[in-house]
Formats: sequence, structure tokens, C-alpha cells
Amino acid sequence: MIVMAAFTDGFATRNRVQTQRLAELTTFRIGGPATVAVLDAREDLAEALERGARWLGKGANLLVGDEGLPMPVVRLGRDFDFIREAGAGVLAVGAATDLAKLVNHCIAHGLAGPEGLAGVPATVGGALRMNAGTVHCWTLDFVRRVEVVLPGRDQPEWIERSAMPAVYRSSGLPAGTLFLGCELALTPGDPQALKERGGKLKKAKADSQPLALPSAGCVFKNPSKELPAGKLIDQLGLKGARVGGVEVSPVHANFIVNPGRDALAQDVVRLVRRIRRTAFKERGVVLEMEIEAWACPDELRAHPAELSDEHP
Ligand SMILES: Cc1cc2nc3c(=O)[nH]c(=O)nc-3n(C[C@H](O)[C@H](O)[C@H](O)COP(=O)(O)OP(=O)(O)OC[C@H]3O[C@@H](n4cnc5c(N)ncnc54)[C@H](O)[C@@H]3O)c2cc1C
Repeated sequence: MIVMAAFTDGFATRNRVQTQRLAELTTFRIGGPATVAVLDAREDLAEALERGARWLGKGANLLVGDEGLPMPVVRLGRDFDFIREAGAGVLAVGAATDLAKLVNHCIAHGLAGPEGLAGVPATVGGALRMNAGTVHCWTLDFVRRVEVVLPGRDQPEWIERSAMPAVYRSSGLPAGTLFLGCELALTPGDPQALKERGGKLKKAKADSQPLALPSAGCVFKNPSKELPAGKLIDQLGLKGARVGGVEVSPVHANFIVNPGRDALAQDVVRLVRRIRRTAFKERGVVLEMEIEAWACPDELRAHPAELSDEHP
């Protein structure tokens, strides 16, 4: 169904606007309805910003509530989907570009670095926002500068990487920053060697993660290098724990999976409560969410001491 009323007619004509269940647009396959626009035309950016939209990438790090969202959800489209040479070893990349496409491009052109992100499902915008990473590297390791719209502003601007206090799973820029693209500064590498490195990483992920089932990746940030969240949850005996349609993956305990593709966000919230409460009571560890939650109960961000013991 086309919902022209959500944006002006011109916007809706140039961009694709419809009401959609966000379960269809997230890797978790969970989430209620919203008005979703694909912002193909850069000239319409100001209108999307005015409407206080939420920005959606590949939906690989998201839990969306069952009631859906009252505000529009916007995905960057055509004008933001590009990889261009911008000098020796420098690429200009749009935020809508699929990260896998960027990784493959760099491997084929002998540009080293991004192959260390092989197998991470993301758009470039989502990867910048989350500073997505693996054991080898983080997204912001190769970035020279980013094009963003800062919260409260209405114009894009470029920010140098040196001005970004990037940390584990965060770009360091304020919440609500919109990423439009970036420039990467890359070093030369042998395409065959880069391909092998990326391939090994993908295989390691396939061997240790439940990639065939819907999930949003790792649910919790690792409390420390010595104690990854998955190892802790496993030690707590919660591997395989189920609530409604979701379970703690028997393959990797920091993944919650939706095997029947019919789970509710509230199932995830209840299972997360059980895990966080148990980790705090038995080990004194405060597990923090790595997954972003939209239109979900505040308890996901509460200190576990404030949560009730009531288990579903
Ligand atoms: C099977 C699986 C494996 C995974 N493995 C890894 C891994 O190894 N390492 C890792 O770091 N992550 C991993 N993840 C999580 C996910 O891949 C990353 O968090 C990724 O960066 C999400 O990108 P996205 O485009 O899907 O963002 P989304 O999930 O769509 O959005 C995530 C957040 O970014 C915001 N956002 C999206 N696009 C933009 C934009 N253009 N500007 C501003 N904000 C934006 C959204 O508003 C939201 O707040 C995995 C996920 C899955 C499902």
C-alpha cells in the first residue's frame, strides 16, 4: 500500500513510500508496522530530516517492538549507493552501499583492510554508526572522514576521522547522527591474499554462529576480552533457554534466534531479562545490549538490579 500522506506527494513520487512490517526489513524477522521510505533522491533529505525519521540500514542489529513505530522509517537508496575512486587508495562510499559489496570491491581492486569485515551483515551507514568490527579490525580503522548530518542540524557536513572518538561498537558521534557516506584510505594488498583472509573469516563465522536462523547478531556487548558474553551465558547454563518463539542459540550463546520466524519482540525482552538478571545475581556482571531496540520497554537499558526475578 502506498501511503502518500506520510510525506508530501513529490517526496512519495521520487522515493518509495509504503506501510510495512519491520519484521520484513530486519534480520531478526521481528517488528511491527511503520511507514517506510527508501530515500532515493538526495534532494529530499531535508524533508526526511524534518519528519524526525528513524534511519534503517540492513536491519542486522535491531530489535523492533511488536506495536511498530509512530514515526517514519527511512532507508537510504539510489543516490547514496556508490563506490567511487577518489585518489590513490582512496574510495568515496555511500552509506546505502552493502558492506559485502564494498568488501568484495576492495578485494578485487587489491585494497587491503575491509576484507577484515567479511561476513558482517550491514550497510556502510550502519557499519559506521555501530563501528562494526571483528577480531581483525573495526570499520572506522580505514575511514579518513565521514559525511554526516548531526542531530539538530539540517545540512550535511564532513567530519575528519581524527575528530571522532570512536570506541568499541560506537562511532563516538552523538546519538541521532545520520551517516551519508565516507572516504576510506586504504593500502595496497594482493587480491588473492585478501580473498583468502576474508574467506577464512567468513568460514570461522559460519562454523561458530547460527547463520541459518534469524537473529540480530550478538545480543550483548562483551563485558571484557577475558569474559565474552557468550562464554558467560554458556557458563550460566542458559544455552538453549527458550521464551515463546525465541531461544538462546545452542551454537553461540550470545545469539538469540527466532527459529520459527514468528517470535514477538516481547519474547526477546523476557529472555533478555532472564539472562541479564541471572548474570548479575550469579556473577555480578552487568550485561549491556549490543542490539539496538526500537519501541521496546525501557527495561532493556535498566540496571539488572532494578529488574524483577519473575521469570516467564
Ligand atoms: C548473523 C549476524 C552476524 C553479525 N556479526 C557481526 C560482527 O561480526 N561484528 C559486528 O560489529 N556486528 C555484527 N552483527 C551486527 C550488525 O551486522 C552490525 O551492527 C551492523 O553494523 C548493522 O548495520 P545495519 O546496516 O544492519 O544497521 P541497522 O541494524 O539497520 O541499524 C543499526 C543502528 O544503526 C543506525 N543506522 C543505520 N544506518 C544508519 C545511517 N546511515 N546513519 C545513521 N544511523 C544509521 C540505525 O538507526 C540503528 O540505530 C551481526 C549481525 C548478524 C545478524
